[in-house]
Amino acid sequence: PALHRQRHQFVVDFVKENKPKKVADLGCGECTLLKKLKFHREIELLVGVDINGAKVKKKMNGLAPISTDYLQPSYDQLRIELYQGSVTQIDARLRGFDLVTSIELIEHLSLAHVEKFSEVVFGYMTPLAVIVSTPNSDFNPLLPGLAGFRHSDHKFEWTRAEFRSWALKVCLEFGYEVEFTGVGQAPSGLQEQVGFCSQIGVFHRLGGRDGCNMLFGDDTEDVFSYTLLYSINY
Ligand code: SAM
Repeated sequence: PALHRQRHQFVVDFVKENKPKKVADLGCGECTLLKKLKFHREIELLVGVDINGAKVKKKMNGLAPISTDYLQPSYDQLRIELYQGSVTQIDARLRGFDLVTSIELIEHLSLAHVEKFSEVVFGYMTPLAVIVSTPNSDFNPLLPGLAGFRHSDHKFEWTRAEFRSWALKVCLEFGYEVEFTGVGQAPSGLQEQVGFCSQIGVFHRLGGRDGCNMLFGDDTEDVFSYTLLYSINY
């Protein structure tokens, strides 16, 4: 299957296994991943955030319940919210989540903004789990005809070592642990050498639900910097 599908399937599999109740997708784009996640009964709150409001609006109506959704007696309460906003800015409505995903987002940020992203996600939102995917540049020599980055809007593409060093620093600073994996296999024999096409870090907050918030105490005044574009209750 296409690589973007494999990345989204990775998140779906994580949701099936870990059953988070509140899930936020950062850089949700056209809500493709959210549309897959809305079928998972355990989820009570599903939030999407993207800096590009027009992009979100294009296909957000596909998130509305279809008539058969109401015919399912076991359909639990689900609320969906979409926001226009930047992951470099805090918003109190994004705190307290079980899972935050950031799929192919960070490579679109300047390195200064990646620092902000780390503070906002791991230091302020402090979700129980975070999934971050980004291109693995060690894999790039296997991509035919590629000169430079995989996409013209990418500000960087990290090697596995660079991704690892960012992730481990985040863990130390904000109290998380991380496992490295990925999707998109290299031909057999090369996997060891180049890794996955998309590299993925799966972060868990140390101490789980009792883990504390390092950067901002609970007495910080609530900040609302995102704009609500859409909300619906199932
Ligand atoms: N996550 C989606 C997926 O897996 O298909 C979309 C990935 S797309 C390559 C990157 C997305 O990040 C775009 O929709 C872009 O508008 C969004 N984005 C870029 N900078 C952002 C920022 N500072 N805050 C929030 N979203 C941002």
